[in-house]
Amino acid sequence: MIKKLFNKIFKPKNIKPEASKTQHAQANRPILGTKKPTRRHPDVNKHKAASKSSALTISHKTHKIDRTLLSSGAHKTIEGLQKAGFEAYIVGGAVRDLLLNRIPKDFDIATDATPEEVNRVFRRSRIIGRRFRLVHVLFGDETIEVSTFRGSHLEIDGDSKVTDSGRIIRDNVFGSIVDDAVRRDFTANALYYDPSSQEVLDFHNGYADIEAGILRMIGLPETRYAEDPVRMLRAVRLSAKLGLKLESGTQAPIAKMADLLQDVPPSRLFDEMLKLFLSGHAIESVSALREQHLHHGLLPMLDVVLEQPMGERFVMLALQNTDDRILSGKTANPSFLFATLLWHEMLAAWQTYQAEGRHAIPALHLAMSEVIATQAEKLAIHNRYTATMKEIWGLQPRFEQRAGKRPFGLLTHPRYRAAYDFLLLRCESGELPMEVGEWWTDFANAEGDERAAMLQADTAPKKRRKRSRKKPSGTNAAPSSAVGNNESD
Ligand code: ATP
Ligand code: MG
Repeated sequence: MIKKLFNKIFKPKNIKPEASKTQHAQANRPILGTKKPTRRHPDVNKHKAASKSSALTISHKTHKIDRTLLSSGAHKTIEGLQKAGFEAYIVGGAVRDLLLNRIPKDFDIATDATPEEVNRVFRRSRIIGRRFRLVHVLFGDETIEVSTFRGSHLEIDGDSKVTDSGRIIRDNVFGSIVDDAVRRDFTANALYYDPSSQEVLDFHNGYADIEAGILRMIGLPETRYAEDPVRMLRAVRLSAKLGLKLESGTQAPIAKMADLLQDVPPSRLFDEMLKLFLSGHAIESVSALREQHLHHGLLPMLDVVLEQPMGERFVMLALQNTDDRILSGKTANPSFLFATLLWHEMLAAWQTYQAEGRHAIPALHLAMSEVIATQAEKLAIHNRYTATMKEIWGLQPRFEQRAGKRPFGLLTHPRYRAAYDFLLLRCESGELPMEVGEWWTDFANAEGDERAAMLQADTAPKKRRKRSRKKPSGTNAAPSSAVGNNESD
């Protein structure tokens, strides 16, 4: 304990890579010999004996988890930690998904080793996070997240912080496996699987709940939502994704506690919303959010959009499209998704600027900037997404030009595909005639001469054509229009 305190006070917070290299040189081998492991937190020792006995042990014969389904990184991390004398389990979503016969998307590990100790066991690992300090262990492309058993945030001697409303904003108190289980959100998420013994430890009857198809909050739902309002979103998302029914006590407080989400930092909300939209069950999730009155304020754009019939149709089509892609194993681009979610708000702003007498394209740029500035800040949409959103939007007016050389230029634009998919959604939602989308589909599929024959008569005013022709000095007109913002009308 004294040694630990000493380290806490005098050791530099971030070990420089050079310094850590030497430590890591012997790191693959567990801490043995002279350096006596400082690993056991006193609380862990205190609760250790009691811990296992308070859990239901579910044997392989019952749960039938096939351990070959674990990733090699998960196997190696567990093995490394156990060989070093620590406890280590697969936890959370992965165990739940395996029991539901789903392929886990990642494997999280919980251990009684502190982040520093985990870091010493694995050469290629780094300590991350502030709110929760974790270790990322790297194996080629795979990253395994390892967290130390968490204790109660009510412990006074640990590094934790709770706001007046009960929200936990920092939480680095370590504890026993029992403490760790009680702090997890749902019973189905508090199962600990040890691939060596092939046993699942169940502290909150999660196994029975999974069997019964129920998602149940551990502890008092009101208190748990107050501690972390994001749990309300997780409840909705996980029940939609897993087809588990929200237990009535877990569901009941959500509608009246929804406002607490206003206090959650936007970046965290964004991450959670992204998970929700990219879960493959966005449609069910958004419907459930509306049923639970969670969409108000949480998704300012949905408030606006879902209230206009055309906007709702557009968003629902976009979400369906995303779900179909994810469920068929394809990726979905978050920029595309956010471009769809904010499109009708952008359209409204665009119309307002045009009504004020501005030309279409300058009005479009003003509208894009305005919507991005307000919504992107509220939703913490990262710059890397907003740049692509603007490109997708900015290319839309160019689909209306089906004469001359311009359609050829558009086909070679790097964002053509995303912008075209976006156009099809606009057609399907009734915003544009279907014929426009069909024309572009045919044009893209046609061969050289056929394409030329498809071009419409050039009805653009002479003056405009002359002006735009002068600029590229004859050679190749396409590149200068690449970003879709040089239309001069
Ligand atoms: P997914 O399949 O979407 O990854 P998950 O349950 O694995 O779902 P993660 O965000 O990966 O979600 O979290 C891993 C585990 O950490 C959860 O299963 C749960 O035990 C715990 N956890 C995550 N978020 C919270 C939270 N807000 N409150 C309590 N426990 C949480
Ligand atoms: Mg997970």
